[in-house]
Amino acid sequence: MRIDIITLFPEMFEGPFNHSIIQRAKKKNLVEIYIHQLRDFGIGKHKQVDDYAYSGGAGMVMMIEPIATIIESLKNERAYDEIIYTSPDGKLLDQPMANKLSTFQNIIILCGHYKGIDERIREHYITTEISIGNYVLSGGELAAAVITDSMVRLIPGVLGNEVSALSDSFQDQLISPPVYTRPRNFKGWEVPDILLSGNERKISEWKLDQSLKRTRERRPDLLNE
Ligand code: SAH
Repeated sequence: MRIDIITLFPEMFEGPFNHSIIQRAKKKNLVEIYIHQLRDFGIGKHKQVDDYAYSGGAGMVMMIEPIATIIESLKNERAYDEIIYTSPDGKLLDQPMANKLSTFQNIIILCGHYKGIDERIREHYITTEISIGNYVLSGGELAAAVITDSMVRLIPGVLGNEVSALSDSFQDQLISPPVYTRPRNFKGWEVPDILLSGNERKISEWKLDQSLKRTRERRPDLLNE
């Protein structure tokens, strides 16, 4: 999978993309991530990328030309499955969406800033708009990092045996059962006996039971979907 991210703040990705699972996926050549500095495509001597909104109002708007230039140059190189804009009014990111995105070859993610981007970019270039939650962030970078992490960990071969994406919460509309590790007893707080019983069938039943109980208690909305 190839991911092209368009941003005014490339440094914001240095943390999220250079550690843990995403770093491993890059090393194994299972994902290639290219971060493009939008300002390089800015207009004039000052490399302008934003301007005042027509009709006024507070806040700057990201201009159409720099974004159009970079998106068109990328599209000339290869076909893209999706051109994503991170947006609080987009479709809410969830596990089925991450699953679907992880099957794609080439994706562009455009990060907005300020008041957002000129609407004509959304109309003419963007194929999908994704929100990571019902709150407003200062920019699309954190959202792009979240979207990228949720899809890269699903690419076959990225996760080792110690973590399995399929047993994670949401994969079956249920949240995960509780997990425990050593010691068996800490200050009198015991690990449930069943987990040490060695009875595989009973353990699976217990896990499913716990998942259902937790989902009912914490996320009943998932059971209604
Ligand atoms: N004025 C806009 C918000 C702009 S916030 C509005 O009210 O809809 C600046 C940028 O941050 C946006 O362009 C978008 O790219 C990003 N952003 C903010 N909140 C987000 C969210 N919940 N999910 C994804 N991206 C978000």
